[in-house]
Amino acid sequence: MMEIDEERCQFCGRQAKHFAFAAFVCDSKDCMDKAIEERGGPGGHMKAKKHQQAMIAFEVEQKKVEEREKQER
Ligand SMILES: [Zn+2]
Repeated sequence: MMEIDEERCQFCGRQAKHFAFAAFVCDSKDCMDKAIEERGGPGGHMKAKKHQQAMIAFEVEQKKVEEREKQER
């Protein structure tokens, strides 16, 4: 069990009240927002995943073009 009472807010140094987005934060909304930002915003990891999918789609398209060029020869 994590002893949150012994932890300090990572952004302002006050008594931590929450463990959110992999950071100890106090009750301040500003500090919570900072914790969210450090994690890349709400759904930050989803954005990274979308980027990855876009890259895969791009590679698939590239392969299709290559295949077409081979057939035309
Ligand atoms: Zn704080």
